[in-house]
Amino acid sequence: MSRIRILSEHLSNQIAAGEVVERPASVIKELIENSIDAGASQVDIQIEGSGVRLMRVVDNGCGMIEDDVLLCLERHATSKIQEESQLGAIATLGFRGEALPSIGSVARMTIISRDQEKDTGTLVEVRYGALHAVHEEGCSRGTVMEVRNLFGNVPARKKFLKSARTETYHIEEVVKNQAIAMPEIGFSLRFDERTVLDCPAASDLESRLRYIFRYDGPLLSLEHSGAVATDSVQVGGYLLLPESTPTRSARLRIIVNGRAVQDRMIRNAVTEGLHGFLMKGYQPAGAVLLSISPELVDVNVHPAKREIRFRDHREVYQFLKTVVKSAIQNHQEHARAQLFTPVPKNAREEQEVVRENLITAEPVAEPFQHHLVSPVNPVSVQGNNAVPREQPKFVEKLTATERSEKVPEHISPAASFPSEEKTGKREAEFGGLRLIGQLFSLYLLCEKDEQFIVIDQHAAHERILYGQMKQDYLKKDIPQQRLLFPVTVELGPDHMETIERYHEDLQSLGLEIDHFGETTWVIKSVPAVISVLDPVAMLHDVLDMLYESKGNPGQVIAGVIDDLLASMACKAAIKAGNVLNSEEMIGLLQQMEESDVFSHCPHGRPVVKTFSQPELEKWFHRHGG
Ligand code: ADP
Ligand code: MG
Repeated sequence: MSRIRILSEHLSNQIAAGEVVERPASVIKELIENSIDAGASQVDIQIEGSGVRLMRVVDNGCGMIEDDVLLCLERHATSKIQEESQLGAIATLGFRGEALPSIGSVARMTIISRDQEKDTGTLVEVRYGALHAVHEEGCSRGTVMEVRNLFGNVPARKKFLKSARTETYHIEEVVKNQAIAMPEIGFSLRFDERTVLDCPAASDLESRLRYIFRYDGPLLSLEHSGAVATDSVQVGGYLLLPESTPTRSARLRIIVNGRAVQDRMIRNAVTEGLHGFLMKGYQPAGAVLLSISPELVDVNVHPAKREIRFRDHREVYQFLKTVVKSAIQNHQEHARAQLFTPVPKNAREEQEVVRENLITAEPVAEPFQHHLVSPVNPVSVQGNNAVPREQPKFVEKLTATERSEKVPEHISPAASFPSEEKTGKREAEFGGLRLIGQLFSLYLLCEKDEQFIVIDQHAAHERILYGQMKQDYLKKDIPQQRLLFPVTVELGPDHMETIERYHEDLQSLGLEIDHFGETTWVIKSVPAVISVLDPVAMLHDVLDMLYESKGNPGQVIAGVIDDLLASMACKAAIKAGNVLNSEEMIGLLQQMEESDVFSHCPHGRPVVKTFSQPELEKWFHRHGG
C-alpha cells in the first residue's frame, strides 16, 4: 500500500516556504535526509563535476513501491506527516514533501527504488519537471537517486554557483555533519574517482568524530542527562581540547534530534561554558548532540531546515553551559590523575623533607623571591640555618659548565652521573613527577613514567592565583594591603562616574578609594597580590575595564570582575624570566596538584604539554632499535 499522501492545502500553507535547492550541497542534504528517514544503514554518495554533472545517492532503506515513486514527485507529497498536530512534534528529518519535486524541476532526476518486500523495483525519470519515463527495473532493495545537469534549465541560477572547490566543500560539510549525527549509519563520499570519506556503519560517536575530525587528541565528553521544563534532555558528544589546533573539519557541529543545525544559542552556551579555557580568537570545536522532546523544538522555521527554535531556549542554554563546565571540571580530574600520582599524607611529610633538603642546596641562580610562590607552605630560601646537606642530583645536571668539566669525552655518562644508590642523593620530586629543571627561566621540565612534561610556570601560577582570588572575591575576602602613604589620583568625568557606580564592587576587589574633593580621589588600600604595582596605573586599568562595560549591569559586571581577577592574577604571577629554585618549582607543582583547576591559565592558554617517550623516539628515528 502506498505510504505517501498529499498534504492538505491548509497544512502545506503552514510549512516554512522558500527555496530548497540553492546549490548542489542542498540537493545532497535533502537526499541524505530521505535515506536516513527511510531507515538506511548505509548511504553512498557519488559526485561528478562538483555536483552539477551528477549526484548519486544510494541507500539500503525501505525503498518505495511504484505508486510512491510517482507520488513522491508531487508537491507536498510525504509519508512523514499527515495532519496538523504532527507539525508540532516532528521526529523525522523531512516533513514537507517539497524536496523531490523541487529538485526534479531544476535537473534531470532518476529514481530507482525497490520496496524491501518487493521482487522488483521501479525507475522514474523526470526532466526539468516533466515525467520522461516510468518502468519496472531490476535493482537491489533500497533507493538510488540520480540528479544530473543541475540548473540546466535555469542558467541564471547556474551562474551563481561558486567555484568547484567551494561547492564540493559544502557537499563535504553536509555529509560530515550527517555522519556525526548518525554514527550508526555508514557513509561514503566520492568526488569523481576520489574517495573522501568512508565511515563504517555501526560506529560509536567517538570513533566517528575522530575519523571526521582527523583528531586523536584528548576529548571532553559531554555525556549528560537532565531536564528542561518537565521533559528530560540528553546531551552527548565531545569537545576537542580547547587549545587543539583547529583543522578544516574540526568545527563545532551542532546536532539536535539527529538534525545538523546552525544555532547561535547553543554555540554561545558552549563558548560560555568554556570561559577561561578558550584562548582569544579560538572557537570551540567538537560535536554537541542534543536529544530533546520534539515538542520542545520547532524545526519548521527555515526553508532548508538549517535553523530551529527552542520553546525554552533559556533553560536549554543554561543546561548546556553547565554540561560544558562540568566536562571541563572532569577534564581537570583526569589531567590531575595523569600528571600527578596522588601523594598520600605521610608521603607528603616526606616530600617536605625532600624540599628541606633542596632549600639548603645552593641555588642555581639568584632565586626569584616571590611572596606567592608558596602561600600554603611558605619557606624562605634565605634565613634557613640548617646544615647544608648534599646537593640534589638535578642541580648537578643543571649546571652545564660544571658538567662539561666533569664529563670528558668518550667516558660513559654513568661514571659522571652516579646512580641514586651509590650516592644516596634524593631527587627533586613531587607527586611522582621528577623535576629535571627549568628551561629558558620559564618552563618547568619534568619526567614521569614514559612522559616528558613541560609546564609553563607563568600560566600555571596565574591560574592558581586566579582560582584563589576568585574564591576570596566570592567570600568578599580579598586580602587588602593598606598603603603606607595613600596615593591621590585625578580622575576624569567618566572614571568618576564609574567609581561612584561600582564603589562596592571595587571594595570587594580589595580596592579602597575615597573621594578627596573635586576630581581628586585617594587610594588607601589595594589588593595585596598586586601591591607591587603602581596603584594609579592599576586603578586606571580597572576603571577602563568597568567603563567599557557601561550600561550592562549584573552579569556583565561579573564578567568584568572575572577579567579583572584574571589580569590581576597575570600581573601578580611569576613571570617568564623569573629564575626559580627547585624548592619554588616543587612548591608550584604542589599548588597545581591542590588547585581545583590547573590545566589552563585564565586566558585559556594551556599550562602543561606532555611528550611521550615514543613520540621523542620517533623524532630521533629510534623506533625499531
Ligand atoms: P519529505 O522528505 O519532506 O517527505 P521529499 O520530497 O524529500 O519530502 O520526499 C517525498 C517522499 O518520498 C518521502 O516522504 C518518502 O516517502 C519518499 N522518499 C524519498 N526519498 C526516499 C528514499 N531514499 N527512500 C524511501 N523513500 C523515499
Ligand atoms: Mg525529504
